[in-house]
Amino acid sequence: METIASPAAMSGWSKAARASGRTLALVPTMGALHAGHLALMAAGHRHADRVVASLFVNPLQFGANEDLERYPRDLTRDTALAAKAGVDVLFTPPAAAMYPPGHRTRIRVEGVGAGLCGASRPGHFEGVATVVAKLFHIVAPHVAIFGEKDRQQLAVIRRMVQDLDWDLTVVGHPTVREADGLAMSSRNRYLSDEQRRGPALALWQGLQLARQLVAAGETASERLEEAVRASIAGHRGTRIDYATIVDQETMDRQQIVDRRSILAMAVWIGETRLIDNGLLLPGEEQGRS
Ligand code: AMP
Repeated sequence: METIASPAAMSGWSKAARASGRTLALVPTMGALHAGHLALMAAGHRHADRVVASLFVNPLQFGANEDLERYPRDLTRDTALAAKAGVDVLFTPPAAAMYPPGHRTRIRVEGVGAGLCGASRPGHFEGVATVVAKLFHIVAPHVAIFGEKDRQQLAVIRRMVQDLDWDLTVVGHPTVREADGLAMSSRNRYLSDEQRRGPALALWQGLQLARQLVAAGETASERLEEAVRASIAGHRGTRIDYATIVDQETMDRQQIVDRRSILAMAVWIGETRLIDNGLLLPGEEQGRS
């Protein structure tokens, strides 16, 4: 595996790979790699000849009071894991190379990026869309792979790719979970043992409860959300940001559950904000953009 830090060198590598007929997959990450990231990298190989993984803690997507400074960084460990996952190039640009002095452009995807995490974290999806657009230009992938764990992010990227006529395929990958259901996340390492064993499971349990109620015939979002909120609140040390039923693609709130419905949740476990989501019924094929 090669590690490339300079955007110009990355772009040169991609141009040469494309010129020799290779197809490229990009897996954007912020590092602190876990099995969820590694599954996306493995999927990259099923979709393209070469896999580029980017590792960039993007300052633009963090709010002023968020965890940019303490976000876990471990380049040595990440390099070993990415190499083992068969990544061909690890792209590790410094922030100064991505946002040199004078950088002023932002990409805002309206509607789909406005609610949920977009409402709780103003500017977050603008930061995400901007960095992903830059990565798409630098790496020029044929396929880009994103996790469904960040379903709103996936929806924002799909919308951007469609709206800007980008010639690439966005692939969503199912959420990878721990044995007890907790969605893998770099932020899980902020949790104490006690939080990890108890309240952190509130999101998964909320999703399971909603699925059970839907399977038993309940389709009214309001009643489902109420039941999920009560279930999460039953765990000490949780604070609900949102627990809302939305269309998986538009992120619009739905009154009645159908095959496009996901339950999306963001919950504070002490100082750590976790998100999770899942379809409530066996889903409709979302297709690719
Ligand atoms: P992050 O490093 O958290 O920005 O995540 C990088 C990519 O990995 C994003 O596309 C995430 O959606 C994806 N990802 C993170 N956690 C998981 C998970 N548990 N399962 C599947 N994909 C994930």
